[in-house]
Amino acid sequence: MSEHAKSTVQKDEPKNDFIRNIIRGDIKAQKYEQIVTRFPPEPNGYLHLGHVKSICLNFGVAEEFDGLCHLRYDDTNPTAEKQDYIDNIKNDVQWLGFEWAGEALHASSYFDQLYAWAVQLIEQGDAYVDLQTPEQIRDNRGSFNEPGTPSPQREASVEDNLKRFMDMKDGKYQDGEAVLRAKIDMTSPNMNMRDPIIYRVMHQEHHQTGDKWCIYPMYDFAHPLSDAIEGITHSLCTLEFEDHRPFYDWVVDKIGFDKPPHQYEFSRLNVDHTLTSKRKLKQLVDEGIVEGWDDPRMPTIAGMRRRGYTPEGLRDFSDRVGVSKADGVTDMRLLEFSIRQSLDDTTARGMAVLKPLKVTITNFDEVLSQWETLKADSVEARWDADTQTLWLTQPKHPNVDMGAREIPFTKTLYIDQGDYEIEPPAGYKRLSPEKPEIRLRNTYVLAVTEHITDESGNVVELKATIDPTTLGKNPEGRKVKGVIHWVSASRGVPATVRLYEQLFSVEDPSSVSDVHDALNPNSLTVLDAVVEPSLAEAEAGTRFQFEREGYFITDSEDHTTDKPVFNQIVSLRDSYKPA
Ligand code: ATP
Ligand code: MG
Repeated sequence: MSEHAKSTVQKDEPKNDFIRNIIRGDIKAQKYEQIVTRFPPEPNGYLHLGHVKSICLNFGVAEEFDGLCHLRYDDTNPTAEKQDYIDNIKNDVQWLGFEWAGEALHASSYFDQLYAWAVQLIEQGDAYVDLQTPEQIRDNRGSFNEPGTPSPQREASVEDNLKRFMDMKDGKYQDGEAVLRAKIDMTSPNMNMRDPIIYRVMHQEHHQTGDKWCIYPMYDFAHPLSDAIEGITHSLCTLEFEDHRPFYDWVVDKIGFDKPPHQYEFSRLNVDHTLTSKRKLKQLVDEGIVEGWDDPRMPTIAGMRRRGYTPEGLRDFSDRVGVSKADGVTDMRLLEFSIRQSLDDTTARGMAVLKPLKVTITNFDEVLSQWETLKADSVEARWDADTQTLWLTQPKHPNVDMGAREIPFTKTLYIDQGDYEIEPPAGYKRLSPEKPEIRLRNTYVLAVTEHITDESGNVVELKATIDPTTLGKNPEGRKVKGVIHWVSASRGVPATVRLYEQLFSVEDPSSVSDVHDALNPNSLTVLDAVVEPSLAEAEAGTRFQFEREGYFITDSEDHTTDKPVFNQIVSLRDSYKPA
């Protein structure tokens, strides 16, 4: 079990991470005219929570220091890449609240230039075409303890290498028959410096360049050079690239840039009970374990958006996690904390009964015939005689002005099954035969007079009375403890409500070899609920607080006002407090 990262940054403090401090130093030393960063996804999947950190860092730094941040697709491996991924990545970055400088860029649009630079390396004697098989290349790299064995082509002439590289480009080699390698050091203790491959043959169409190329640059070659072309000043990436930095520096040095970009590494974001690997998330999608990349249980930006997470909440989370070189696992509850915080003042309230239990108010007609004379002055309502409905006016939010809603109160209601217990556990504060009275939120005090059970002893209906003097007022001569929510049975709207738990039941799903063994079988529960009309009427993608239940959003795909569908965003509260 890995230790949870303890150091979280408090919001609103100036950010003092090591990267920002380096940039402050560079600005002070007038090293650059402008700070330029980039977010460089490979379009081989949807962006996930880990990318949120990288996006917030790259775009955040550019914003903070009046610089620019590019969105650049590092699209050097056409086999795994797709236009759909490209489109969704743009969408996700914008939804998070960031705007890249100019057009979105593609490493593939530099292929001509990268090819010319590869030729330059050959001419300088810094690269050669290797004709060994992939197995021979692997075996001859040596190991940590053994130096590598030079390729038979390592000392080939510049002319031979130029001809062979041209032949690679012209399709005279099949996949795997030839590669271009940087000529560095086959004995280097850093395996990445043992003549890394910089171009390979790949007879494969590219989503941007079509069939123009049958050779493609390797990521480690294309990345530093793309950074250099774009005038990136600070190339920010995750720690696993630390060992690649010597090659990064070697490439930009050999090509000869005046002001080469510099790579700085920070630790990856890891969060418990989740995965941040496109490859593994793709497996969940491909095997139908989830309903798609945007399944609300997925840690993808698309999934979190559909789940109802807010961009503000995700950015706040990213700020609190901070940036460092320390590896750790961030507590999932910090993410939920940030999301919850962003919702309190921004969501309208409403009542939804998730597990309905029918309640018939036996004295409804009698009480409602005199509601207006007995109510408190503060109560705003109207009686609709045709449908025998009292429409109660209530603000949508207790202290933020969001307008009002009308809540229908009728003879038959639903309350939640969990709010009535025949044999309540100790400390139970809701309804039971011993404690039959409670306040119905926004309306009367109710007293249960009878419960009806089915053959197995489950309560299936309650009969109750309401106290005519309690509309907006406390009852005379006694205190009634507790308030519960309810929805009109006749005027409420049936709704599908999806509750979520973690997708994975183990703390570190990446440590489990078969992902199926890490899944939580209860990650999704679908309920037939009933909601007050103001909730059902909302358009898709509207967030609410269901009173006493939590935060919910109308689903962006499946919700209609006739057949409302809500996704649970996050619970109302949690004892967790960030450090
Ligand atoms: P994956 O392993 O999921 O494919 P990746 O690093 O290969 O991730 P890229 O598309 O290459 O995905 O990533 C784009 C940028 O996002 C890179 O700069 C990468 O360092 C950063 N990034 C990816 N995962 C994380 C993470 N968990 N935390 C922080 N940054 C990340
Ligand atoms: Mg990758």
